[in-house]
Amino acid sequence: MVNAFYDRDANLDILKGKTVAVIGYGIQGRAQALNLRDSGVNVVVGLRPGGESWKEAEKDGFRPLKIPDAVSRADIIMVLIPDEVQPDVYLNDIGRNLGRGKVLEFAHGFTIHFRRIEPPEGVDVVMVAPKGPGAMVRNTYLEGFGTPALVAVEKDYSGNALQIALAIAKGIGATRAGVIKTTFREETETDNFGEQVVLCGGVAELIGRAFRLLVSEGYQPEVAYFEVLHELKLIVDLIQKGGIENMWANVSNTAEYGGRTRGAKIIDEHSEENMRKILKDIRDGTFAEEWMKEYYSEMPTLRKMREQARDEQIEVVGRQLRALFVKRDGKEG
Ligand code: NAD
Ligand code: MG
Repeated sequence: MVNAFYDRDANLDILKGKTVAVIGYGIQGRAQALNLRDSGVNVVVGLRPGGESWKEAEKDGFRPLKIPDAVSRADIIMVLIPDEVQPDVYLNDIGRNLGRGKVLEFAHGFTIHFRRIEPPEGVDVVMVAPKGPGAMVRNTYLEGFGTPALVAVEKDYSGNALQIALAIAKGIGATRAGVIKTTFREETETDNFGEQVVLCGGVAELIGRAFRLLVSEGYQPEVAYFEVLHELKLIVDLIQKGGIENMWANVSNTAEYGGRTRGAKIIDEHSEENMRKILKDIRDGTFAEEWMKEYYSEMPTLRKMREQARDEQIEVVGRQLRALFVKRDGKEG
């Protein structure tokens, strides 16, 4: 069993007298900056002047600095901007303001693991990756708990990098829930694999194909939508709460028998072979290369796919159905 770290294993005093710069005030940046500040950590926020985030941070009582100024002033720099923009921002605004003894922190390993960012000698490189979106990081903290996280150390010049990462994890509330140690490589490869194969890619394709098949066989799209999409939430909640067996235990015997005997006909050795190819592309950097190329050419593939999807029947039906089930007091049901 892996070793988990909790509040008692982390010491916030390590951050005493230090300044933490949170770069970016988006999904993770805002949540982590607010949690750290509420934990008594000295936080500055580093942003592009004039943007939406600047106003947002001011509304929350921060006095944002330009990114280079925040980096110069801070001992610990948390890079909480989108992965694809990190390399340029690092090159222009972060790297040259990093001195020996500073700590560079990430919430995902992509840019470090794939060498899109190469920090100088003498800088500790650590990761605290919350296993939930920013709203959850903030809300669970406000409820007195936290969101679990992974921590990792890529460079440990100070000899203290793990303790620093754990202190940050404590400041954002993660050690209340529990923190597991990983490596930049493991976190990056499994994260990309998970989102491509199961969480985002796999699930979306499974739903889409099943929906289109039912509709083409003459079933009402609204009914198909409920059966293959809407109800997924109930199933996922059961799985998250108690594992796959907990899900089987809480569906009808008909669903259990049908599911246990038919599932493997849909996801079979073929699918596994494809998963292996996807993992290989992630590991050898093919995917990272392709994604960065896409980003630097202004995301033609992604834009086209987003546009096409907007008018697909499953989206149109979904919009109509959700509007139908709005609570009559005007709030969404
Ligand atoms: P995000 O998209 O919410 O980041 C938006 C912020 O980045 C804004 O403040 C914006 O002003 C700033 N920004 C965008 N482009 C910029 C640019 N070119 N120059 C300067 N600033 C720019 O990002 P996020 O989803 O919070 O992700 C941040 C990091 O956290 C990533 O490494 C991501 O992988 C990781 N992460 C995210 C989640 C999540 O819930 N979204 C979960 C775990 C880890
Ligand atoms: Mg992930």
